[in-house]
Amino acid sequence: MRCAWLLPLALAACAPTVAPVPAPAPSVADRAVRWHGQVSVLASDAMEGRAAGTPGHERAAAYVADEMQRLGLGPAGTQGYLQPIAFTEQRTDYAASSLSLSGAPVTLPATAIVSPRYELPASLDAPLVFIGYGLHMPSAGHDDLAGVDLAGKIAVFVSGGPAEVSGTLKAHARAQRNRWLAQRGAVGAISLTTPGQTESPWESAVRNATQPGMLFADSGIRDEPAFAALSWSPAEAERLFAGAPRTFAQVAADADASRPLRSFPMATRLSGRLAATSRAVASPNVVARLPGSDPALAGEHVVMTAHLDGLGVGNPVNGDRIYSGALDNAAGVAALIDIAAELRRQRPRRSILFVFVTAEERGLLGSRYFARRPTVARDSIVANLNYDMALPLFPLRSVTVLGAEESSIGDDARAVGETMGLPLAPDPFPNRNSFIRSDQYGFIEQGIPAVAFKFGFAAGTPEAELERAFRAVRYHAPSDDMSSPIFRDDEIRLHDFIAALAMRVANAPDRPRWNQGSPFGSAR
Ligand SMILES: [Zn+2]
Repeated sequence: MRCAWLLPLALAACAPTVAPVPAPAPSVADRAVRWHGQVSVLASDAMEGRAAGTPGHERAAAYVADEMQRLGLGPAGTQGYLQPIAFTEQRTDYAASSLSLSGAPVTLPATAIVSPRYELPASLDAPLVFIGYGLHMPSAGHDDLAGVDLAGKIAVFVSGGPAEVSGTLKAHARAQRNRWLAQRGAVGAISLTTPGQTESPWESAVRNATQPGMLFADSGIRDEPAFAALSWSPAEAERLFAGAPRTFAQVAADADASRPLRSFPMATRLSGRLAATSRAVASPNVVARLPGSDPALAGEHVVMTAHLDGLGVGNPVNGDRIYSGALDNAAGVAALIDIAAELRRQRPRRSILFVFVTAEERGLLGSRYFARRPTVARDSIVANLNYDMALPLFPLRSVTVLGAEESSIGDDARAVGETMGLPLAPDPFPNRNSFIRSDQYGFIEQGIPAVAFKFGFAAGTPEAELERAFRAVRYHAPSDDMSSPIFRDDEIRLHDFIAALAMRVANAPDRPRWNQGSPFGSAR
């Protein structure tokens, strides 16, 4: 049945080997129907939200491996198409945890959510210190950690950052923030979101507070320190600032205007005990390879990624417990399948790896694992193109290419956009951390130039309102399902943009490189 749409075109295209003659291109309408059908399968209740380490995710992985085989792409995992990863899954045990702020009880998780992505210190008793945005960016002349005594303290920081620093550099500093704080002796951190930086309601975060985190079982590649990483309810934030030189309202107003924030010791102290439950789980990446057509370049790889995992089954909303993850990111998985079919026809010179990564929702772990333990020679990876929640909620008039300012891939993307009538739109929310919040970041950490894609829009437009409404209601909720209004043909146009960019990168004589002055150039 899966090949039925091809019957009028070429039955031979269903054979499991790469056909020597490219098949005729299917129509946009046919591709849109097929893509939508695949998103429906991956987001169906049978896949149970595809949480990493669950049978639903394994069913989805088997489905994607079948699709890769159907397209004639070879297996490139460590076990056929699969690259299994051993994890420790950890859940914060709120019933066995208790915290107090200068003696007053803190309601968990309604007031404070404890991240399950770090080994937790069993007990806490530490003074708080305010560190502004908590951003260590000496290359940009900004360092919130400079001169602050963090030893034995809990650092309190707010969202946002100075306007004059690039969004990608701020994002990098945010991604490394807890690690750098731990290196300076901090035992924990409290993250506060200002009114102007709020994307989704605090209630949504509380609802997902019992979602597990994951850590690599192999401590050799686990680099998270033991650390109490807390998010704090904005409605309760003033309690932290009792007796401090400034109030939360004052620092939040400065943060929302991107003004500088000075650090100061706070008068409050957090103490108590933290507990978590854990279990060992395995979950695979799915990896397929399209061999390059040029013998001189086929040994090099462009890696295309999309996360297959979702949030699984969680706390019910309106009676629904299955977090379907249709746009986040079943849509991206099906997009990569469509792009794989296109690239197979177009025969790029370098090889293309399609990696459907696991455990993105647990801390970008499948992609970080792949970037550190790739199934091809590490130096053969020239670039990563990532698709995560591009959000086809309105017509495609421009593309936001996250990371476009950092590497030569940005110039390639601009050139492709010009030929397609698709200008690049700047990131409308440079403070949102988008560049570090999906799987491209694992590759960036290894020094590999990478970008990710979104339907472009500008702040303050009707499109921005559609995007805002999606994040406020459906994002990371059961209603991210097939009832979202989806612009299918526009989605296929984005696939064509990404495929054309992949071709350009795969066919160029030189590998992509970081731009002069990009902070990521020296990451490896
Ligand atoms: Zn996602």
